[in-house]
Amino acid sequence: MQQLFDNIKARDNTIQELRDELTALQERTQMLTVQSDIFQKDFEAERTAREELAGEKSRILSEFEVLQRRNVELTTQLSHTESERVQAAERAAIMVQKATSSQDMTESKITTEQEEEKVPLSLLRCPLCLKGYKDFSSLQSHAADCMGIE
Ligand SMILES: [Zn+2]
Repeated sequence: MQQLFDNIKARDNTIQELRDELTALQERTQMLTVQSDIFQKDFEAERTAREELAGEKSRILSEFEVLQRRNVELTTQLSHTESERVQAAERAAIMVQKATSSQDMTESKITTEQEEEKVPLSLLRCPLCLKGYKDFSSLQSHAADCMGIE
């Protein structure tokens, strides 16, 4: 009888030990699950960040391409404008040179009141009589007349 009781007692102990072990394992499992969730979230956050970074990078790259194209356009425009400016300056210089070399012959600077009234504010001036003209062709045709006057 005592033998049987001892057996049962021993079995109870074993059962209790197994229960404790099971509890410990359950707690460990729970802890690992929580950790795993954290890792999973970290991983996803990192992947999202990587994707956003890649998106940002390609957005910046395409913006950069647009700016580069714009830069080329502006550079082309600028050199075009620059060469026009140089040409205009050269034409003006030639006009002045012509006018200066023929100045001796046209000492009498005759001006008419009528022409004086419509002198614009800015601009191209006749080197002989100093009247201003808005555009080069007006000045050119005037200059021909102006130099023709004796
Ligand atoms: Zn003139």
